[in-house]
Amino acid sequence: MHEAIPGADIRILEAGPRPLAKLALTGGGRCNITNTFESVRSLDEVYPRGASLMKRTLADYSYKDTLAWFERRGVRFTVEDGGRVFPASQDAGEIVRVLLKALQGVTIECGNRVSALPETDYVVVTTGGAAGMEILKDLPVEIVPPVPSLFSFNISDTPQGGRSEITALMGSSQPAVLSIPGTKLRSEGTLLITDWGFSGPAALKLSSYAARHLAECGYASPVCVRWTPFSEAETASILAGLKAANPKKLVRSAHPDGMPARLWEHLTARSGLRADITWAELGSKGMNRLVQTLISDQYHIHGKTRFKDEFVTCGGVNLSSVKLKTLECKQRPGLFFAGEVLDVDAITGGFNLQAAWSTAHAVTKSIISSYDTQNL
Ligand SMILES: Cc1cc2nc3c(=O)[nH]c(=O)nc-3n(C[C@H](O)[C@H](O)[C@H](O)COP(=O)(O)OP(=O)(O)OC[C@H]3O[C@@H](n4cnc5c(N)ncnc54)[C@H](O)[C@@H]3O)c2cc1C
Repeated sequence: MHEAIPGADIRILEAGPRPLAKLALTGGGRCNITNTFESVRSLDEVYPRGASLMKRTLADYSYKDTLAWFERRGVRFTVEDGGRVFPASQDAGEIVRVLLKALQGVTIECGNRVSALPETDYVVVTTGGAAGMEILKDLPVEIVPPVPSLFSFNISDTPQGGRSEITALMGSSQPAVLSIPGTKLRSEGTLLITDWGFSGPAALKLSSYAARHLAECGYASPVCVRWTPFSEAETASILAGLKAANPKKLVRSAHPDGMPARLWEHLTARSGLRADITWAELGSKGMNRLVQTLISDQYHIHGKTRFKDEFVTCGGVNLSSVKLKTLECKQRPGLFFAGEVLDVDAITGGFNLQAAWSTAHAVTKSIISSYDTQNL
């Protein structure tokens, strides 16, 4: 902005001791700066809150614009699975240094926690997630109560709690579909079993989709795992094939293709099958129980655990309080919002930082155009 409005007195008031300290920690210190969106079928899948705002802002400032901005300043990028983009240096510090260099000429006041907005022509609030939302309470905006998103689940076998037996398989992973019974909340992806429960893409996505629901039920909820991508009939037919091919083998030792042996053994025990039963001995009742476990295995979420210290806030400035094109407060001209302080958040993969870049661009563009109009 200071390049577009030479001579403007622009100040950044930062509560912390250093600017961009959080950015330096993103992506485990590698900064997953954006995503190519190549495997995104619909923005709702990646932005459970704010998809329609993101459609608008991405049309004006896409991941390509983000990359081009940094590339012009010498950064090279590499794309990893799921379209996740990182600096080729694998160093979030490079992104921080480039941004700080671009801010030369702008005053940055660290250690300045703002509690009341300064009296000035334009103010942009970019205070991030829950911890930075204190500032909103005296502003003429509606606030969607903040709750955490992007966490893994502590899992029990019963609603009463206690560690699930599945945690003995920690380190195993399997493509799965997770859902919350009685809701439409479901996610698909790799499920990682940890020593406290479920993590990996399937669990993190569900934590994002179900962020508000889980907060409302105190992070205690049944969760259903579908361990197979196949329908009930297809699953039954796969198991019938295993039975025909392995009559003398123990059921627990001949497993469907691609499923970790330890997980299969666990699922046979969960289906109530004797450890010494062979496929030839398995009757239709046992077969049915096995099919039901594969397509609808029930566990209980009993609390949450932070995922690699990465989390975002679901909630913030209600989008109905801002003009969607400019992100200016409807009730207070000259006051703008960008980034996580808005009720916009995403699943993991670089989508959250892209939301920060795109919304910041929308705000900058509207301030520059308003400034130009006033100074013609
Ligand atoms: C550990 C971690 C890793 C992450 N990794 C990734 C990743 O790789 N890719 C991705 O897309 N997303 C990632 N995220 C999410 C991403 O970092 C955020 O969505 C993004 O930083 C939001 O940017 P923001 O500018 O809106 O807010 P922030 O980056 O949170 O910045 C807000 C700033 O405002 C300051 N502040 C708050 N209140 C006040 C106040 N009252 N006065 C003055 N200053 C104030 C804070 O100190 C902070 O510096 C990660 C999050 C975490 C926690």
